[in-house]
Amino acid sequence: MADLGIPQNTLSVLRKYQFNIQKKYGQNFLIDTGVLDRIIAAAEVTENDCVLEIGPGIGTMTQYLAERAREVVAVEIDKNLIPILADTLSGYSNVTLINEDILKVDVRSIVKEKNGGRPVKVVANLPYYITTPIIMGLFEGQVPLQSVTVMVQKEVADRMQAGPGTKDYGALSLAVQYHAKPELVANVPPNCFIPRPAVGSAVVNLRKYEKPPVEVQDEERLFAIIRAAFNQRRKTLANALGNAAGLGIAKERVMEVLEEMGLSATIRGEALTLAQFAKLVGRL
Ligand code: SAM
Repeated sequence: MADLGIPQNTLSVLRKYQFNIQKKYGQNFLIDTGVLDRIIAAAEVTENDCVLEIGPGIGTMTQYLAERAREVVAVEIDKNLIPILADTLSGYSNVTLINEDILKVDVRSIVKEKNGGRPVKVVANLPYYITTPIIMGLFEGQVPLQSVTVMVQKEVADRMQAGPGTKDYGALSLAVQYHAKPELVANVPPNCFIPRPAVGSAVVNLRKYEKPPVEVQDEERLFAIIRAAFNQRRKTLANALGNAAGLGIAKERVMEVLEEMGLSATIRGEALTLAQFAKLVGRL
């Protein structure tokens, strides 16, 4: 089967099927074999693995995955891509295609059916308009995962890896770092895709922790407090939490706990580490 990572091959498939690229689905097809190799290497795909691919497009990365993995399950929303995928993946018997919206499909039961509930590797060139809900859905939906290796918008990759006191640090950084160890694999310029996206891209590898790096009684409460802290990130943490409807926390109590923790009562949320947020929530 022709390698779709070579631009001419992608162009000829798109022409053959007169495929209309759907911007609304975030369709930017990868056309760089070097980037594809780096994604596969970072994901450390082996013949023991069951890989979940989100948004296979015309099957470019799916071919690379099918060559190396025991089994690939690819979930694609665009029904017009299904006949194309049937063609480009006809040489592989280890690929299951599911024509569904990844945000609606029950990923846990797919993993149960295809991998006996054992952790899978997620590998994807994600549709950028729903990057955060996809990643948080995987982590918070209790999907058995080993790692998530994904192409995302460069800015999102920066936010995933950011630490306290930086402009990129926020609720996404803390949510990702609670569940996984993020690592930048590669920066990818727009000319590696057809059509070219308006933004830079990056590949990140998120290696899922067996156990989160901090202990909390109530994860939901931790993240409700983190979100409230960053919803008003220019305010002091005490004000941001005191103002947040639904949390039921008095500003004075936050100030008290901060002082007990040896922190300034006027500190902003953006200065706190994940461990400090966990400690604060425990005491509140
Ligand atoms: N994997 C291909 C590649 O690298 O060339 C295509 C990547 S493209 C950036 C994103 C893909 O995700 C498209 O094929 C798009 O149709 C698909 N997609 C968009 N929204 C989706 C959703 N909610 N569920 C599943 N697939 C989706």
